[in-house]
Amino acid sequence: MPEEKASQARGGYFGPYGGRFVPETLMSALAQLEREYRAAMADEGFRAEFERCLREIAGRPSELYFARRLTEHVGGARIYLKREDMNHTGAHKINNTLGQALLALRMGKERVIAETGAGQHGVATAMAAAVFGLRCEVYMGTEDIRRQALNVFRMELMGARVVPVESGQRTLKDACNEALRDWMASVEHTHYIIGSVVGPAPYPEMVREFQSCIGREARRQMLEAEGRLPDLIVACVGGGSNAAGIFAPMIADEQVRMVGVEAGGRSMKLGDHAASLVAGEPGVLHGSLSYVLQDDEGQTAPVHSVSAGLDYPGVGPEHAYWKDIGRVTYTTCTDEQAIDALCLLARTEGIIPALESAHAVREAVRLAAEMEPDQIVLINLSGRGDKDCNEIAEILKRRETKES
Ligand SMILES: *Cc1c(COP(=O)(O)O)cnc(C)c1O
Repeated sequence: MPEEKASQARGGYFGPYGGRFVPETLMSALAQLEREYRAAMADEGFRAEFERCLREIAGRPSELYFARRLTEHVGGARIYLKREDMNHTGAHKINNTLGQALLALRMGKERVIAETGAGQHGVATAMAAAVFGLRCEVYMGTEDIRRQALNVFRMELMGARVVPVESGQRTLKDACNEALRDWMASVEHTHYIIGSVVGPAPYPEMVREFQSCIGREARRQMLEAEGRLPDLIVACVGGGSNAAGIFAPMIADEQVRMVGVEAGGRSMKLGDHAASLVAGEPGVLHGSLSYVLQDDEGQTAPVHSVSAGLDYPGVGPEHAYWKDIGRVTYTTCTDEQAIDALCLLARTEGIIPALESAHAVREAVRLAAEMEPDQIVLINLSGRGDKDCNEIAEILKRRETKES
């Protein structure tokens, strides 16, 4: 299919990364998805409907919040938070699931499936499916089901079926594999709502576009509040969708420095972290070429993070490209540092961030301390920490017993 090759070369790659490495059965589904996505984005009616959903269902625009007490505590640059934690369902994931659910309707599909790690994408998918009357099944590793029992319950309350995944490490990567397997057999009537800027083309570009409302709003809100753009934007990176969403609309503004923070876990030993960009090598995972954590034989390595949402051995191909061209710097934050940052934000601002977002808070605070008071740091607060409270309580209890 020469036409498909051409569109792939045009839209599917970010430098050498991205592409469409999938079995033949999925090629036509991806081509259809790409056609429908491009037609939808060119359709005023679709865009207006998406805007309406973001407003009425997600509760957008999310606030740009000046963190006065955190700024005073740090004693450096002025720190702002983009409050994705205030969205309905508690994270940025809803921006993407609303967009993709609308696309599923447009394609006449009656069922959606999703993979989920922390459960946030599963909850956002279940919610969108309930709103639009779509059948919904969510693949989730049993290790994550254990860690995120509340989100499992929320999905089921909204009518989704949670499918436990027992293979591999029983976390996000394994859930992705099972969801792809389902899609190969169900593609006629099912749309697969991928939860981040990963997977085969057109997913990385499409998810980045649906998440770009974050950066477009932040850009406008920043200009209103400060009359200029931030000096630095910091976001956590799992698959990379909240980061891509806030970075993309300001990526052409060269004066804006950008930092992505990956999960440094327990240590930088392979298996102890999930820092694909910082410590991985180029490889193919879930249908696209990007940085992947792999062992000496090229097998995808096990990963660890205190936050289920960052626990993924791959990363979006556009981030791989931004890393290689030096536009965005990528770094890590350990489990312990993330927990400390979570406690700091809770005490100074009364905001309990998701453990994922706490990774960004930690690095932003570290950098802000070295900056001048007339400089501006913007943190993408990707989600709220309610879902993590049980896990945090256990960790803090363990810390206490260790100290005494
Ligand atoms: C899922 C999730 C992430 C990680 O996913 P990205 O695609 O990297 O954004 C980060 N923060 C929260 C709150 C999440 O739910």
